[in-house]
Amino acid sequence: MNTFLYTLFALTAAGIGSVALSSSLLLLNNKWLAKISGYLLYLAGGTLLGSALLGLIPEAAETLCIHDVVMWVLGGIILFFILEKIILWRTCHDENCERQNHAAAPMIIIGDAIHNAIDGVVIAASFLTSKELGIFVTISVLLHEIPQELGDFGILLKSGYSRKKALLYNILSGSSAVVAGIAAYFLLEYVEAIIPYTIAIAAASFLYVALADLIPEMHKETKLKESAIQIILIIIGIAIILLSKGTHQH
Ligand SMILES: [Zn+2]
Repeated sequence: MNTFLYTLFALTAAGIGSVALSSSLLLLNNKWLAKISGYLLYLAGGTLLGSALLGLIPEAAETLCIHDVVMWVLGGIILFFILEKIILWRTCHDENCERQNHAAAPMIIIGDAIHNAIDGVVIAASFLTSKELGIFVTISVLLHEIPQELGDFGILLKSGYSRKKALLYNILSGSSAVVAGIAAYFLLEYVEAIIPYTIAIAAASFLYVALADLIPEMHKETKLKESAIQIILIIIGIAIILLSKGTHQH
């Protein structure tokens, strides 16, 4: 199978499959739903950190010198900080506002569509670098998108959307990953020289999501048992990346 078909399959799985998986999880009762979505979030923390530090950064450093790689990662982190700040500015009208609590539904959808588009570009750039990198980057995207979309679904329902409408909007925002990913695939294939830079920014995106979005969410939970589960699942997430890397040494 050629690289484009792999990419297309991965984009569809990450962009639309994650919506399908998360909406089928909605059939579970609330207690199990919260549990499973929490566990996926913890695992995603590990796979995102693992993919960025064990997969994407070393991969970018094979073409660029390490000094350039870390400069692009650093720049990427600042870029994502600014991007998230802009989304917050556009959504918050009162002083103490958290994105998840007060953001208007349309901004949630637009913000996630932007995030999903970036995930799509990351997947395309990874498959163009190597099939192995593509596969574990896709796993990382899938694992953090399912709890993310479950959360979005809850916000949309709370703001008065019907289930059908909420699902439709989630699918629309998920398909931005497919559209952006396909566009990026052809652009990057054409201008191969920018792939390692894209991979470095992708690492920044993964680090940012793990450290600035997922981990603060995990710290809301302070019970000993749940905290132990968090640590174990983060390590399992990293191990998944390590093992899939170990079997594909180049
Ligand atoms: Zn994502």
